[in-house]
Amino acid sequence: MTEDVTLLDAVAATSGGEDLPVSSRFDVLDPATGDVLAQAPDVSVDQLDGVFAVALDAFGTWRHDEAFRRSALRRAAELIEERIDELAEILTAEQGKPLAEARSEFAVSAMWLRYYADLDLPSEVLVNDEAAGYQAVVRRPMGVVAAIAPWNFPISLAVWKIAPALRAGNTIVVKPSPHTPLATLALGQVLRAAFPPGVLNVVSGLDPLGAAMVEHPVPRKVSFTGSTAVGRKVALGAAADLKRVTLELGGNDPAVILPDVDVDEIAPSLYRSAFANAGQICLAVKRVYVHDSIKARLVEALGEIARSVTVGSGMTEGVQMGPVNNRAQLDRVVDLVDDAVEAGARVVAGGAAIDRPGYFYAPTIVEGASDGVRLVDEEQFGPALPIIGYTEIEDAIARANRTEYGLTASVWSGDPERAAQWAPRIEAGQVAINAHGTGVRPDLPFGGLKSSGLGVENGPWGLYSFTEIQVVTGPHRP
Ligand code: NAD
Repeated sequence: MTEDVTLLDAVAATSGGEDLPVSSRFDVLDPATGDVLAQAPDVSVDQLDGVFAVALDAFGTWRHDEAFRRSALRRAAELIEERIDELAEILTAEQGKPLAEARSEFAVSAMWLRYYADLDLPSEVLVNDEAAGYQAVVRRPMGVVAAIAPWNFPISLAVWKIAPALRAGNTIVVKPSPHTPLATLALGQVLRAAFPPGVLNVVSGLDPLGAAMVEHPVPRKVSFTGSTAVGRKVALGAAADLKRVTLELGGNDPAVILPDVDVDEIAPSLYRSAFANAGQICLAVKRVYVHDSIKARLVEALGEIARSVTVGSGMTEGVQMGPVNNRAQLDRVVDLVDDAVEAGARVVAGGAAIDRPGYFYAPTIVEGASDGVRLVDEEQFGPALPIIGYTEIEDAIARANRTEYGLTASVWSGDPERAAQWAPRIEAGQVAINAHGTGVRPDLPFGGLKSSGLGVENGPWGLYSFTEIQVVTGPHRP
């Protein structure tokens, strides 16, 4: 790439360390305007044979040099930091999030790469003596990994797969969402300088390309982040040849607020936990259960914050919330809030799409919608939050659990010990006390219970999920 050609102008799929030529492209829209931003390569299902072949070929060497793998991951982190301004602009342009948050997504991804570069993956020698001989448990790489990502955090959720998969010695083919392929394709191009050809491959295409990756005979593992509906299809597709799967799926994450909280103190943190990334976070607070005695005050405090938020293009300085990422998602949020109002709920702030080009929806606080209303029962994945009153804490916990999902949850109290007594009663992969989602760190496992997923990512547990166990036995090894 020459100096005056930007990453966005030259966006291409990466296979075997080179541009993968394509015969067609699809439009990627700017959610802040609804206009076409760029065209992404529409990699065909037939081309997957070639992409997986180069990934398999690269695996033969990559798996053997652990020290080199660690240094390549560190180099990848440096390359991201060197190009962070350009990369973040592409991410904001296609995803909608404020530029500072796009930068932070790349910065955090560099941190994840370094974490895995530094993490050890030792063999466990269980026995080694003259009498009993040698018995060890070795964690081997699996081969080629197929990684499929959604549009809300295209980069960090792809790197949650790339970093541990490559660290363990696998090679990988990554497919971003067709709504947000550009930043991931650009990342693949930038990281050609970090990895040998074929180790990290990035393809873009429409949904059938994802299904074809799952069914392809070469990958031995599918790591998928997306909706529960598609996750079920991935599990079925992977079952044919028993590919290993990790599924990070949807959530309808509850926050339970006890009567002894300081409402003014918790409101800003609770608001951020629900509305960051315009509410498009798998682990965002999606329902608030608050004790009746403080409900009115909390509704008012959250409404006041929602009304004060600056909504606009993520490229504009000072904007706190960008657009919803795509038309279908905006329509869904409109539909869910309208349905709640028809069912008798009251809109305290927002309540409608903003009248301007693009997919903007005003930050919305709704009260009076309870369980049985779609806004409460379903994953809204957007900037609209229902606040639900309760009288007895047991009842609030039971309602929090009355869902097919179980991703994250939180319990808030003036007395953290009291919250800690109730927290484990919520069926969720992570439960936070007096905060929400604070367990998202490279060193802690992240995954959902029930229909929110299968397996975990991050930490050593995430690394293990990109390995297969092999037992080695033999005579004593001096
Ligand atoms: P989605 O399920 O529609 O798409 C996710 C990815 O799967 C995309 O790349 C898509 O092209 C691909 N895909 C579509 N059909 C496929 C198929 N049949 N086989 C294989 N791949 C296929 O999800 P989305 O709308 O992009 O993302 C939003 C959803 O993702 C929400 O439900 C959200 O909760 C969930 N999510 C979960 C996590 C988590 O870690 N648990 C994180 C972020 C988002």
